Amino acid sequence: MKVLVAVKRVLDYNVKVRVKSDQSGVDLSNVKMSMNPFDEIAVEEAVRLKEAGVDAEIVVVSAGVSQSQETLRTALAIGADRAILVESEVELQPLGVAKILQHVAQTEQADIIILGKQAIDDDCNQTGQMLASLMDLPQATFASKLVIQDSNAMVTREVDGGLETLKLELPAVITADLRLNEPRFITLPNIMKAKKKTLEVIKADSLGIDIAPRIKTIRVAEPGGRKAGVVVADAAALIDKLKNEAKVI
Ligand code: AMP
Repeated sequence: MKVLVAVKRVLDYNVKVRVKSDQSGVDLSNVKMSMNPFDEIAVEEAVRLKEAGVDAEIVVVSAGVSQSQETLRTALAIGADRAILVESEVELQPLGVAKILQHVAQTEQADIIILGKQAIDDDCNQTGQMLASLMDLPQATFASKLVIQDSNAMVTREVDGGLETLKLELPAVITADLRLNEPRFITLPNIMKAKKKTLEVIKADSLGIDIAPRIKTIRVAEPGGRKAGVVVADAAALIDKLKNEAKVI
């Protein structure tokens, strides 16, 4: 079985995001970049499937700048077998990424494609859904449990009303939610082992896919500051404030 996992290089979640002075985007110079946290969960899940006895090869794929190789090395250190970077200097948006992933999934003949539910930089929550649609594959988003049974994936997913379990015929697209697992710490020996694993670099231009951006960013701005809150003495004081100051009730 071939498991393909998509990993994106994003601004580290601990970094305080700064907007560029010309408001054209977010300042990425000299800031720590890491694997998108949901993608770390996706890689961890693939590795756990293998450790649980599923006969699988885990291929991790990233689309983006050359430095994404570091992100792929991290995925290899978690336990993936092989990595592919589809290198592109142009800004990639979910549709472009989904088309690239479609190409890789078809070339690799992937049985399961696992993505994060969303990337914490653009917060789009679109790529997995677009990929499933392009490939006409069953999809289960926001997975909190994944079990492989013969040629099916049993996926428990978090929905508004609670939990829902879907049975998908493989090949299928699954996107990982926070509670799917807790990724392991990466050990030094595994970082060393990862250096020896295969990392193939393909130029996005060579694929003949239209990955041109479809969305234009007009302006990026910091959210407005919030006023400090107040502590009220009791419920009556709260109601008074809501009625007479905030005028919301
Ligand atoms: P998004 O739709 O942008 O919120 O991203 C959802 C998921 O798609 C991410 O968690 C990744 O698994 C995958 N993804 C998005 N962009 C990329 C990329 N440039 N390279 C690889 N995977 C990506």
